[in-house]
Amino acid sequence: MHRINKDRLLADFEALSKFGATVAGGISRPALSEADMAARGWLRQQIEAAGLDYRMDSAGSQYGRLTGEDDTRTLLTGSHLDSVPNGGRYDGALGVLSSLEAIRCIKELGMIPPISLELVNFTDEEGTLLGLFGSRAVIGQLTQQEIDAPRCGKDYLESSLQRAGLTDAGLLQAQRDDIIGYLELHIEQGKRLTEGATDIGVVTAMVGIRSYTLHFYGQAAHAGTTPMTERADALWAATDFMEQARQLVIEKYLPGVINFGVIQAHPGAYNIVPGEVTLAMEFRHGSDEMLDAMNADLLDIAYTVTNTDELSVTAERGGDIHPAPMDERVISAIETACEEADLSAMRLLSFAGHDAQSIARVAPAGMLFVPSQKGISHNPAEYTTPDDMVNGANVMLNSLLALANQLA
Ligand SMILES: [Zn+2]
Repeated sequence: MHRINKDRLLADFEALSKFGATVAGGISRPALSEADMAARGWLRQQIEAAGLDYRMDSAGSQYGRLTGEDDTRTLLTGSHLDSVPNGGRYDGALGVLSSLEAIRCIKELGMIPPISLELVNFTDEEGTLLGLFGSRAVIGQLTQQEIDAPRCGKDYLESSLQRAGLTDAGLLQAQRDDIIGYLELHIEQGKRLTEGATDIGVVTAMVGIRSYTLHFYGQAAHAGTTPMTERADALWAATDFMEQARQLVIEKYLPGVINFGVIQAHPGAYNIVPGEVTLAMEFRHGSDEMLDAMNADLLDIAYTVTNTDELSVTAERGGDIHPAPMDERVISAIETACEEADLSAMRLLSFAGHDAQSIARVAPAGMLFVPSQKGISHNPAEYTTPDDMVNGANVMLNSLLALANQLA
């Protein structure tokens, strides 16, 4: 197995952490802000200094290419340099630097990979502008509609694009068809690795999200004169449902999760038994099969708790996000690299979104996680130990080499 240059990786990390540094020890580097532009300028210098071919696409994503024997096919690797406001130093940045270090080492070893290897810094992973914007541009999934009415506001998008020399029209022209694989390193942003004393997390899928608006109907009534045994209380039905749904997920669907984020009782007064309740429900799991099974069980419970003459329920499906399974070849390349480096590994689901979920739609993709101390992320206190950073980058280097050979 090969090893990365540890001192160089850690020095790069310190240098990069200065762009957008906050007094709290984190960084504020929203996509295409002045701080992000400075970080991007620094990355370009590192790419050029390493003798890799630098390029920026029309959606602003930056690349550093090491040409392979077959230059028509690309194994892409990287993450993002943008951050949430007042975020941490590791989220995204560590992935970009590990991939940079890995490709730099391969070049220094004098190896010519069978296919081209390319580092990427995807624009706006965190959603300051559009969300997973660089990676969705690459797979042709951005729409004119969201560019015309972005969640950040049209003026903000325009001024951000201008800062990077980009245009509206270009965003829809960044699609590529040469990508045949993708590998990303990221901090876990959870506690599973630290609690399990495990070195590396191997992601099996990015979870899908399914949502519903449930309406429970009963009978509005006088809160004093209606006997307890004669009430058709829509809120009691809803709370029965929530309690049973919670038990169901804990007993049958872990590590899946469920959340009820909005509850509204109507008419909504101290002295009226609720006649109607609106409930926002969202649940997440790693495969469509699991989501389908959860879906069926949850609706069953909703119909069972309202199975009386005076109660009823309707379920309105909201927008879905499909799970993004990682590729078995990429998963096993990461696991093999862990074994060779004598590092412990654990398969897990990613409950957060990442650029890998975009690329997984068009090519074999995979992700490895390194431990996040206390699971803290999107916070200045985000921390990964230098040893964990180096372990992750070593696994990145060796799995990248193995994958290049395997996918060629
Ligand atoms: Zn991230």
